Amino acid sequence: MKEDYYVILGVSKTATQVEIKKAYRKKAIEYHPDKNPGDKKAEEMFKKAAEAYEVLGDPDKRARYDRYGHQAFDGGGFGGGGMNMEDIFSQFGDIFGSAFGGGFGGGFSGFGGGRTRVKGSNLRIRVALSLEEIANGVAKKIKVKRKKIAPETTYKTCPTCNGHGQVTRIQNTILGRMQTASVCNACQGSGKIVDKKPHHADSFGMITVEDTITVEIPAGVEEGMQLKVAGKGNEAPGGGLAGDLLVVIKEKEHPAIQREGNNLHYDLYISISEAVLGTSKEIETVTGKVRLKIEQGIQSGKILRLRNKGIPSLNGYGIGDLLVHVNVWTPKNINKEQRDFFERMNSHDNFKPQPKKEDKSFFQKVKDMFS
Ligand SMILES: [Zn+2]
Repeated sequence: MKEDYYVILGVSKTATQVEIKKAYRKKAIEYHPDKNPGDKKAEEMFKKAAEAYEVLGDPDKRARYDRYGHQAFDGGGFGGGGMNMEDIFSQFGDIFGSAFGGGFGGGFSGFGGGRTRVKGSNLRIRVALSLEEIANGVAKKIKVKRKKIAPETTYKTCPTCNGHGQVTRIQNTILGRMQTASVCNACQGSGKIVDKKPHHADSFGMITVEDTITVEIPAGVEEGMQLKVAGKGNEAPGGGLAGDLLVVIKEKEHPAIQREGNNLHYDLYISISEAVLGTSKEIETVTGKVRLKIEQGIQSGKILRLRNKGIPSLNGYGIGDLLVHVNVWTPKNINKEQRDFFERMNSHDNFKPQPKKEDKSFFQKVKDMFS
């Protein structure tokens, strides 16, 4: 059962569009991922609020929703799967003013030399990396859609604020005369307004272009980590500081190797006869293949530690290990000849389990590994 959109935003069914916009803006700030890093619940609320606003913020969609409820949008793109973060951030242009360019990360970067400077908004992009790439570090070429000032655009000083980016007003109140400063509406705080712009640019003289950006990803990164590439987000209208590109790391699953911190685990299967006779096996590691000697008489459950064959730590202190878990494969179906052989062996004393102290149980080994 999906939650009511009005309940999510905390507004009444008769709320005006302005009230809905205000309510969403409040929720978006409250649950913004930059303010709640790693908080899944906040992220969920953030997405829910965006989805609710996507519908209630649009009078047509709102009317349909009022009439048919959530069914109005089944199979219609959202309603079902929810929105992704990129959709949400692109919606912000509308909520926080287009000067902030469809992102939230932007905003005021301080008052430099008495003038307000507007910073372009941040962009966020996910990059999926293989364990090999994480182990070795990689330079990734990423395609990013960024807002940039169109080459033909020119700006002139904003006449409303004389280029200050803010306007001061003197008001007479019951507490006396008060001076308030607020962001200039005409230029959204940049101090400049468009003089000339090509017709395909937006009202701030910006166009969206696809750039290829090379991101140096150091070895040892982890799922969910965020790397910042300064100045590669959206440009700021009027030529202020560009926003940043935030690269969120996603770890691709490896078919044979599992990661646990900076250590890696690999399951090796050998046959009963290999366990008895000893063998040598080729093992896949994140830095290439290595040959591993299996001693004769090895026990199932034995863990062989390959030092420094894991993931390097991000801060440069050491490299993890690759832990090879030895599993002896027992055949399910055997023929007469094999049955006879094993039945004969059963009477031999050396086939009877006689574990010594050093043949610790599996649980003891796991305990040792974590201590
Ligand atoms: Zn202005």
